[in-house]
Amino acid sequence: MYSSFAFSFMPYKTILSPRASITTQDNKNAKDYRTKVSRNPKLEKLQYNYLFPEISEREAQHAKKYPNAKIISLGIGDTTEPLPDVVASSMANYAYSLSTRTGYRGYGAEQGSKIYASFYAYKLLIIKSCYLHTSDKSYEVHFLPENSKSSKLQDLRKAIAETFYKDMGIQGAEVFVSDGAQCDISRLQMLFGSNMSIAVQDPIFPAYIDSSVIIGQTGEVEQGSGRYQNIEYMRCDPHNNFFPGLSKTARTDIIFFCSPNNPTGHAASWEQLEQLVKLAQENGSIIVYDSAYAVYITDGSPRSIYEIPGAKKVAIEVSSFSKIAGFTGVRLGWTVVPKELLYSNGFPVINDFNRIICTCFNGASRIAQAGGLASLSSEGFKVSFRPPRVILSEQLLNPHISFQAVMSLVDYYKSNAEILLETFESLGLKAYGGVNAPYLWVHFPGSNSWDVFNEILEKTHIITVPGSGFGPAGKEYIRVTAFGHRENILEAADRLRSLLL
Ligand code: PLP
Repeated sequence: MYSSFAFSFMPYKTILSPRASITTQDNKNAKDYRTKVSRNPKLEKLQYNYLFPEISEREAQHAKKYPNAKIISLGIGDTTEPLPDVVASSMANYAYSLSTRTGYRGYGAEQGSKIYASFYAYKLLIIKSCYLHTSDKSYEVHFLPENSKSSKLQDLRKAIAETFYKDMGIQGAEVFVSDGAQCDISRLQMLFGSNMSIAVQDPIFPAYIDSSVIIGQTGEVEQGSGRYQNIEYMRCDPHNNFFPGLSKTARTDIIFFCSPNNPTGHAASWEQLEQLVKLAQENGSIIVYDSAYAVYITDGSPRSIYEIPGAKKVAIEVSSFSKIAGFTGVRLGWTVVPKELLYSNGFPVINDFNRIICTCFNGASRIAQAGGLASLSSEGFKVSFRPPRVILSEQLLNPHISFQAVMSLVDYYKSNAEILLETFESLGLKAYGGVNAPYLWVHFPGSNSWDVFNEILEKTHIITVPGSGFGPAGKEYIRVTAFGHRENILEAADRLRSLLL
């Protein structure tokens, strides 16, 4: 016991001492050493780095080049505003309960756990309190042990079904809680395997195409068009109101469809989704419907594919707390696989997805799930967007407050989008989206999107995303995100006006 303890604290150099005689020549060889393992050829097919790390890299290079410039990022769609207090305190409370014998829990159910959540009324049963100091003020945080009398066993799967799929016949057991939609996209690709034919909107969130390439569903990229062989690209542009001409779309096994679409911001209408479901029914295809931005829809368009009759037999839905509740760093999402969705041999798809989840995933963080539950506590009175950084007694006692707080965050980003939309329109540029989504898709006719990206960055220190990163149809566009502090959005609007006027 003693010796292993001593060994683990031995200085690094001492542990390495037998190798201390390595010569410079050996070092050189060590540097050139290669394994005999060949690179996965599917990864070799990928054309570029994944888009968003590439944008971050460009931002870092720009910061190096102009160390005194204030860079404003309207690029990667990452949320910027703080979590509502009731959501953060619920996670803090849950985390604290893990330090108690009664509260501690280990692995949860892979599909999503039932957990004791105490996001309301916990002031009644304070067992421990501490002071947190933030830059603005210090405030008291109260902790309640898990499974104490005032915390209730809550089921996030059921809460998701009731909040987002009310009256659509989706049961909690058909909801699989995850660590985010992007991870679920890859798990779905593993579910389908390499022999599937796929269709994607063009443009679309890049994880769909890249994961298809990695799993082996595609051929090589065609030089010139930038398209991968074996992918059916469903072009979405202003000529077709950002909805593909389905009569010209070849049959595929899987149809990836994102609404509101990232990057165009277009939310498909009821009629459009009816056509999509009809196409899947006629072709015997499965739709993978990404509704990560559904709560941004305010024009009455469907927020879920399951609003369309018959969709449960042909569609899987992927979604996320990231852009709903500011959980991009917390990590929480879900996938719905209805029991009625069957393979050609009659086997339920849900059984296989359950198998994939159990094999490749061990369940979402319990702390994140406590935060997810708190953010869905719904229907109550509206709090101001930025509640004071103290836990108000009404907040503690009202179980329905935080969904309203979360929706206030969504409203804030939508107001940012309005400012940006007005800015581009005042400059005579055509900007799409921004109404049902936190993204604007701005057209620069005849230009190359990377050139536009570079010019805007060079002249205004504003980061955007070149449209071609989302597919060949994006080559004359840039995507601009409405996630940002209001003061930055206003400053960005001023800078863009002075550049483009
Ligand atoms: N789906 C779409 C359409 C997205 O735009 C994003 C993130 O930007 C994701 C999925 C990923 O979501 P998550 O943060 O849950 O992984």
